[in-house]
Amino acid sequence: MVVPYTHEPFTDFTVKENKQAIEEAIQYVKGQLGKDYPLIIGGERIATEDKITSYNPANHSEIIGTVSKANQDLAEQAMEKAQEAFKTWSRWTPEARANVLFRAAAISRRRKHEFSAWMVYEIGKPWKEADADSAEAIDFLEFYARQMLEYKDGAEINSRPIEHNAFTYLPLGVGVTVSPWNLPFAIMAGTTVGPMVAGNTILLKPASLTPVITYKFMEVLEEAGMPKGVVNFIPGSGSDIGDYLVEHPKTRFINFTGSKEVGTSIYEKAAKIQPGQNFLKKTAIEMGGKDTIIVDREGNLDIATDAIVQSAFGFSGQKCSACSRVVAHADVYEELIERVKAKTEELTIDAPQHASTYMGPVCEESAFDKILEYIEIGKSEATLVTGGTGDKSEGYFVKPTIFKDADPNARIMQEEIFGPVVAFSKANDIDELIDIANNTDYGLTGAIISDNRDHLEKARHEFHVGNLYFNRGCTAAIVGYQPFGGFKMSGTDTKAGGPGYILHFMEPKTVCDQF
Ligand code: GLU
Repeated sequence: MVVPYTHEPFTDFTVKENKQAIEEAIQYVKGQLGKDYPLIIGGERIATEDKITSYNPANHSEIIGTVSKANQDLAEQAMEKAQEAFKTWSRWTPEARANVLFRAAAISRRRKHEFSAWMVYEIGKPWKEADADSAEAIDFLEFYARQMLEYKDGAEINSRPIEHNAFTYLPLGVGVTVSPWNLPFAIMAGTTVGPMVAGNTILLKPASLTPVITYKFMEVLEEAGMPKGVVNFIPGSGSDIGDYLVEHPKTRFINFTGSKEVGTSIYEKAAKIQPGQNFLKKTAIEMGGKDTIIVDREGNLDIATDAIVQSAFGFSGQKCSACSRVVAHADVYEELIERVKAKTEELTIDAPQHASTYMGPVCEESAFDKILEYIEIGKSEATLVTGGTGDKSEGYFVKPTIFKDADPNARIMQEEIFGPVVAFSKANDIDELIDIANNTDYGLTGAIISDNRDHLEKARHEFHVGNLYFNRGCTAAIVGYQPFGGFKMSGTDTKAGGPGYILHFMEPKTVCDQF
C-alpha cells in the first residue's frame, strides 16, 4: 500500500539547522563548479567537442559547468536507444515503474538542499524560490508515481452477458521533453517522469541555461534504478536537434514548456505528417502568461500588496504565472500603488547565495536587454513609479519596476516581459475590472482580491484563466493541490500536477472478448 500523497513541505530557513544545511550545500556546490558533463545516451556517457557553457547569472565570469552538446547524429542515436529501451520498459509492471519514481523522490529529498544550491548558482534563484522548486520536483515524482498506480488497470466499462470488455491505457513510445530554465528542477523533472512512468521512453533536451542541474537529476534516476535508455540526456540547440526530433517520424509526443514563439512553432511542426509516419503526434505545450491581479474596491489592501509584490517580483518575475498586470478599482488605486511601491523599495536585490536576498538576477544577457527595452517602452506608455534601471556589470540585475496609468492595450500590458516589471491600470466597476483582466491573448493565471463574495463568484465564471486564485497571489501552484496550466495562447492546458496528466502520454485501448 502506498501512503496518500501530500506535498513536500517548504524549508523554514529561520531555523538554525536548516540555514546551516543550505549554507553547507552552497559551499559544497561551489566546490563542484566548473566541471565538464557528458551526454547520456542509452546509459552511456558520450563527450562531444562542442559544448554548452553554463554561467552564474549573478556573476557572469563564474562558470557553473560545461556540458556536451548533441548534434543530429547523436540525437538519432538517442532515438534508436530510446526505441530499444521502450521494448522492455513498456513491459515493466506499472508498480515497478512507479517504484523508480518513488526511489528517485527519496533520493531527491535527501539531496534537496544540494539541488537547491545548484539552482542558486546555475539560474540565480534565492533560497526560498530554489527550495520551492526542489519541493515541487519531489512532488511530481510522488504524484505521477501514484497516478500510474491509479490507472494501471484501466477504467471500468460495461459488459453484456455474452462478452467481457476491457479498457486499458498503453504507453505511446518515444517522446521528446523540452524543458525550461525557470523551474529547472521541477518542470524538467515533471515533464520527464510523467510520460516516463506511463511506460514511454524520453529524449530529454533541457534548457541550455540549466543543463548541469538536469545532469544531476539524471544521476538520481540512474541511482533509482531507471534502466539504460529510458531517459536520454541530450542538451543541444533548438534549431538543430530540437526541430530534428520534433519532426522525426518516430517521435510519438512532445512535452514542451517555454516561450509562445517556440511552443507555437513546435505545435505546427508536430502537426505535419512526415514520410514513414503512421500516427498523429501528441503535444503538450505550456507557454507564457500575462497574468493579472484584480484589486476590487472591497479588497483587503494588505493582502493585495503582499500578493502583488510576491507574484510580480518572486524569482525576478521570471515565471509564466508571474503578475505583470494589476487592475485596481479607482477608489483604492492610488493607495494601493503607494503601498506596493513602499514594499517593493524594501526588497533586497543581491546575489542569491546570501540568506537576505529577496530577488536575484535575471537569467542571461539577452533577457536583461529585452527587459530594459520594455522598461523604455513602458516609460513612453505609462508613468514610472519605481525601479526602471538595471546593472549588468557583474550579474544581470534589474530593479523591480512598477508603472502606473497604463492603457490596457499598451504593449507593457499585452506582451510578456518575463522580468520584474508590473503595470497598473484603473477601472470603475467589477465588469470593467474583469474585462481588462481578460483583455490579453494569454490565459494562464489570475487573482482577485475582494471581500465581496458576489464579485468572487462572478470572477469564478468570467475571469478566463486556467489557474484562478481568490485573495492570494497568482504564482506558486502546488502539485496535486492547484493543477497548473493555461487557456488561450498559454497552451494546451495539460494541467501539470493534475488529475489525468499522464493520460496525455498514453492511448486507451478497448478489447471486447465475446463468448
Ligand atoms: N507553476 C508555477 C507557478 O504556479 C509557474 C510555472 C512557470 O513559471 O513555468 O508559479
